[in-house]
Amino acid sequence: MIGSAIACFLARDHGARVTVLERDPTFARASSSLSASSIRQQFSTPVNIALSRASLDFLRRAHEELAVGEDRPALGFVEAGYLYLASAAGAETLRELHGVQAAHGADVRLLDPDDLTRRWPWLNSDDIALGSWGARGEGWFDGPALHAALRRKARACGARYVAADVSRWETVGTRVAAAVASDGQRWHASHFVVAAGAWSAPLAAQLGLALPVMAKKRDVFVLESPAVLPGCPLVIDPSGVWLRPEGALGNEDLASPPAGLARGPSQRARGAVFLAGAPPRGDDPDEPPLDVVDHGLFEQVIWPALAHRVPAFEALRVRSAWAGYYEMNAFDHNGVVGDIPDLDNACIACGFSGHGMQHAPALGQGLARWITQRQWGAVDLSPLAPQRIALGRPLVERNVI
Ligand SMILES: Cc1cc2nc3c(=O)[nH]c(=O)nc-3n(C[C@H](O)[C@H](O)[C@H](O)COP(=O)(O)OP(=O)(O)OC[C@H]3O[C@@H](n4cnc5c(N)ncnc54)[C@H](O)[C@@H]3O)c2cc1C
Repeated sequence: MIGSAIACFLARDHGARVTVLERDPTFARASSSLSASSIRQQFSTPVNIALSRASLDFLRRAHEELAVGEDRPALGFVEAGYLYLASAAGAETLRELHGVQAAHGADVRLLDPDDLTRRWPWLNSDDIALGSWGARGEGWFDGPALHAALRRKARACGARYVAADVSRWETVGTRVAAAVASDGQRWHASHFVVAAGAWSAPLAAQLGLALPVMAKKRDVFVLESPAVLPGCPLVIDPSGVWLRPEGALGNEDLASPPAGLARGPSQRARGAVFLAGAPPRGDDPDEPPLDVVDHGLFEQVIWPALAHRVPAFEALRVRSAWAGYYEMNAFDHNGVVGDIPDLDNACIACGFSGHGMQHAPALGQGLARWITQRQWGAVDLSPLAPQRIALGRPLVERNVI
């Protein structure tokens, strides 16, 4: 997603000749294929709020921005908000973060338990002191459709995609001369961008940049419930468990399944489909296998939390599950974006720690402009520069789901 967004805007807006080197053209293990594809403004870092707001504008216009001829992408953007819930212990933090968000233009409202019950009668707010809800500009979209639309637009504007596993670089003085693929082929360019998601650190290390970016597995459970939850936003429980409807609010008789979930026409779901997840239990190893979903996480953590928060969920069942990697920046949970120090023609864009899907449009536009014009566009991305890591100056994002 990040690489394709940069490629798309380099080609579309700046007339650059772009080649994307991708080792797996099926994107099977790419975080962008395995994401929950949701967007929020409820961050603690101003640059992330700005990125969300700029990307939100783009998502609303994506059918025009990414049109290729008469082919206009449909992203199924559902603007139902994120609802962060806090117990008495967490209420002050929610208030503090709300202050940051409101100061940076986010339409986020604080709701007391009565407000919560009035708005969402199916929600148990007995042990809740405060909720924080993005009334506009938050929700979820079809991530693979956005990824495909960016690639299609990039190609239509002249970018080419090549299957190549980059294994090393050739440098001459302070310039990168070529990316060298594992088959020995050299790819020359005037400028290079490392946007290899959770696998960016080894590539950056060869260019002298030490990155604490690691592949941390996160499981997503697809749930079916006979109960519908009118107006359900993406809910974040004080336990860290999250829940959101799949597709158009999920609270309807599903005539067509959500993207990627096969279902025969005779198996229409009566009720609603939801996605849910939780922070990892215990150890959080680097790059464990993706084909091992932690079903105990659902049984022991997610299910008890959901049953408590939504009593109508008593007949909930797991339909399927998948796992993907967060490209976790252990230093401060924020993206690393900008020039690679001590090189004249190489940039980095990785480490978004679970919020890269939503920020890809604004990031891609910003970095494309930086590379071609040495200016950031609508969003000043300089706070995300890699230098902060060597200087030991973290820009900590506190709202990581
Ligand atoms: C379960 C889950 C839920 C998430 N939910 C959200 C969400 O709700 N909202 C949100 O904004 N974000 C979410 N994210 C995070 C989001 O998916 C990522 O931030 C984003 O996809 C990162 O995009 P990327 O392009 O940097 O990485 P990727 O999509 O992983 O792409 C990196 C690409 O680089 C390729 N590559 C790697 N090494 C090489 C090499 N040496 N040579 C050639 N190619 C190489 C890989 O094959 C891959 O295709 C979620 C992630 C997960 C796993």
